[in-house]
Amino acid sequence: MAGRQVKVLSVTSECAPLVKTGGLADVAGALPAALAGAGVEMRTLLPGYPAVMAAIGADATVLRTERELMGGPARVLEARAAGLDLLVLDAPHLFDREGSIYLGPGGKDWPDNPERFAALCWIAAEIARQDWPAEIVHCHDWQAGLTPYFLRDTTIPTVMTIHNIAFHGIAPAERIGPMRLDPADFHREGYEFWGRVSALKAGLVWAGKLTTVSPTYAQELMRQEFGMGLDGVMRARRGDLLGILNGIDEATWNPATDPLIAPYSDPSGKAANKAALQKAMGLPEAEGPLCVVVSRLTGQKGFDMLLDALPALLERGGQLALLGSGDAELEQAFHARAAERDVAVRIGYDEALAHRLIAGGDAILVPSRFEPCGLTQLYGLRYGTIPVVALTGGLADTVINASPAALDKGVATGLQFHPVTAESLSGALSRLCDLWQSPENWAMLQRNAMSQPVGWKNSALAYAALYEGLLEA
Ligand code: ADP
Repeated sequence: MAGRQVKVLSVTSECAPLVKTGGLADVAGALPAALAGAGVEMRTLLPGYPAVMAAIGADATVLRTERELMGGPARVLEARAAGLDLLVLDAPHLFDREGSIYLGPGGKDWPDNPERFAALCWIAAEIARQDWPAEIVHCHDWQAGLTPYFLRDTTIPTVMTIHNIAFHGIAPAERIGPMRLDPADFHREGYEFWGRVSALKAGLVWAGKLTTVSPTYAQELMRQEFGMGLDGVMRARRGDLLGILNGIDEATWNPATDPLIAPYSDPSGKAANKAALQKAMGLPEAEGPLCVVVSRLTGQKGFDMLLDALPALLERGGQLALLGSGDAELEQAFHARAAERDVAVRIGYDEALAHRLIAGGDAILVPSRFEPCGLTQLYGLRYGTIPVVALTGGLADTVINASPAALDKGVATGLQFHPVTAESLSGALSRLCDLWQSPENWAMLQRNAMSQPVGWKNSALAYAALYEGLLEA
């Protein structure tokens, strides 16, 4: 795209550092800067949650007004905040509420989530058509899934990126009218999914190109075990599906400059961080490796298996420091394990502690049952914190397993286990302890890990090439 900037509207429900519940926010927040060097001018459309409205402050200008958007008046504001060019859907009746962006009191979805995100998609289509004519609209996950549908009568090309196919954006059929959908499209080849509306399916059906966040997950999505009922749709669109790995924000996650840790550019610098972490978490000094976890605690992430596999680590003198939140049952189970001498648990969400864990840990555990890409294993690589991961999705694509051959060739960066069971995780923890006892192998793993490319460079070029292909088509 030499010489000119392609205008891309990115539509997302979260975007770091303004509002984040998971990896989607990291990716949406990092893409604009990553793509700026690849000839792309990206603007990001976000809902006007309180945190976003506070960040844009009084400097915002009004780009568009709506007398009525799914239950109340709305405006689109244009602003720059946190280094991002933003378009913000200021619709207080939909987004001005305290608490989680998706969940209301009692941890249940806000009842009007279908309308909230249909409104985001509807306004995205209007912006792309009229107010900020976009050459391409890039939609993220189900919350943006209806955008390609609302653009179906235009020639504006769309890209739909699946960050996690587990979330479909399901709504009962009675909401078709309020969501401004055409009932004529409520059928198997349209947005209908087992008698209800699926916003994600609409995106998968109507978008010009589909991407997901790793090549292995792209393959897995077409299989029944991983497709969450949409594997048939994915197979039908196989020719338009591409896996592009996520990168990490290399400025925020850089051990040499990280202000939240004792910075280091050599693995030897981890010792001070480990000692500080053990102290902060109330862990004694120990012989074995300190394994860390930074994660949502849900079935997807596989930490129920860690509860069973933990003895394999503790019996060898290893330790566990976990930061996470999610399912109450898992939170309680880990809380109970924290009584053990070499286990420390913090339930909650804490960015600063996440940095200290990843800097101070010797290894990071990611035993996910499925993992579209995964970011924490990439942070681990960058910080010389050896990833121990399930062989699935992006975890399969980003870690080089320390098999005898890979050790021999000197290319290993971590450990992978398969099948994804507690038994096999136990085996991986034992192998980790073996490697720990070989300072030579351990140093090699750390060196290799820290020199892996985990930034956005290659992936930004892949997205730019995808946009270019769409424009040429
Ligand atoms: P997912 O999006 O499925 O949650 P990812 O690995 O793609 O998983 O991204 C998770 C992101 O959220 C990472 O940036 C990770 O550091 C962060 N994160 C998850 N849980 C916590 C927590 N309890 N405290 C701080 N950061 C967290």
